[in-house]
Amino acid sequence: MKLLITGGAGFIGSAVIRHIITNTKDKVVNLDKLTYAGNLESLSEVSDSGRYAFEKVDICNRAEVDRVLAQHQPGAIMHLAAESHVDRSIDGPAAFIETNIVGTYTLLEAARHYWQGLHEQRRTNFRFHHISTDEVYGDLGELPSPLGGEGPGERGGDQELPLFTEQTPYAPSSPYSASKASSDHLARAWQRTYGLPVLITNCSNNYGPYHFPEKLIPLVILNALENKPLPVYGKGDQIRDWLYVEDHARALYKVVTEGKPGETYNIGGHNEKQNIEVVQTICDILQELRPRQNSYRELITHVQDRPGHDMRYAIDARKIQRELSWSPNETFETGIRKTIEWYLENLDWCKRVQDGRYQRDRLGVTA
Ligand code: NAD
Repeated sequence: MKLLITGGAGFIGSAVIRHIITNTKDKVVNLDKLTYAGNLESLSEVSDSGRYAFEKVDICNRAEVDRVLAQHQPGAIMHLAAESHVDRSIDGPAAFIETNIVGTYTLLEAARHYWQGLHEQRRTNFRFHHISTDEVYGDLGELPSPLGGEGPGERGGDQELPLFTEQTPYAPSSPYSASKASSDHLARAWQRTYGLPVLITNCSNNYGPYHFPEKLIPLVILNALENKPLPVYGKGDQIRDWLYVEDHARALYKVVTEGKPGETYNIGGHNEKQNIEVVQTICDILQELRPRQNSYRELITHVQDRPGHDMRYAIDARKIQRELSWSPNETFETGIRKTIEWYLENLDWCKRVQDGRYQRDRLGVTA
C-alpha cells in the first residue's frame, strides 16, 4: 500500500513515517508545508528509502493537493498536518482556523474527488484517517483529593473517575481544540454525507523523541540542562494522560490498516500525571544522568496559569484495545527515561530546530 501522510515532518507524523518505513513494506508520501514545527531531519533515518517521497505542499492549496493525489495515487491518507500548540492558538488563532479547519476541508474535498474517480476495488479499500486530539472533549474537571489508585479511572481511590470515551460530547476550550473539533465534525460529515471511508482517532498527550522544544517535556529537559527556570502553569495540578509517541504511531497504523470506516477510536496511555509530577520526574532522572550540585527541582518556577486551561484529560482506550488488539508498550516511567536519554544524545538537533525558528519569548508551556 502507498500512504499519503500530511504533517509527516512534525513530531507525530515523523514517528508514523519512521514506523511504517522501518516495520512494513508500505510506501509513504510525506506532504508537509514545513512550518516552524516541521523538520525533515526527524526523518533522516528513513528518507533515503526508495519507499519514501516528500512533497512540500500546503494542505490549503487545493490545486497542489490534487496534483499530489493524481501523481502518487495513494491507497490511504493519514491526515496529521495541523497547527498544534495551544499557547500559539491563544496568541494568534487565525493560522489554526486556516490550517486545521480550512485545510482539512480542502483535503477532504480533494480526497473525495480522488476517491470517487478510483476503480471499484481501490475505491472500496481507500481510507481517509483523520488524526485528532482528546482536547476536543474539553475538561474532566478537578479530582477529589487525596489522589489514590494506580490505573485508569482509579485515581480517586475507590471512586470510579470519568474518562473520555468515543461517545463523550465535544466541549473544546481553546482556539486549538475548537479548530480540531471543527475538523473532526467535517471529517465525520464527509463520511456520513458522501460515504468517504473516514476513520477518526482522538489521542491524549504524546511525548518522546523529536518533540519540538516549545512543549512541556522537551522544554523542561532543555531548560534544566541550561540551569534556566522550569515554568509550570499555576500549581501544576493539571492532569494529562501521557502516551509515548511510538506507541501512538503503532496505534495509528493499526487503525488505518485494520480499523472500520465510520468509526472513532480513542488512544491513550493509561498514564495520568499532574504536570508538576512530570516536571519533578524529569528533574529526578536528570539528577541521576547529569548530576547537579543542587537538585534540578529548585529551578521549578510557577507562572500565571493559561486562560481557559483544562484541568484534566484522561482517555478510555478500551475500544482500540478490544477491537484492534492495540495497547501501549511503554509505561510513563520507561517512556520518560527513554525520552530524556534521547534528548541528552541529540542536543545538536534541539539547537538546530531552535535556532532562528523558535523565539523563547514567553515562559508559557503547554502540556
Ligand atoms: P506538529 O506541530 O509537531 O507537526 C505538525 C506538522 O504539520 C508540521 O510538520 C507542519 O510543518 C505541518 N503543517 C502545518 N500546517 C500545514 C499546512 N497548512 N499544510 C501542510 N503541512 C502543515 O504536530 P504533532 O504534535 O505532530 O501533531 C500531529 C497531529 O496530531 C495534529 O493534528 C495534532 O492535532 C494531533 N495530536 C497531537 C498530540 C500531541 O500530543 N502532540 C496529541 C493528540 C493529537
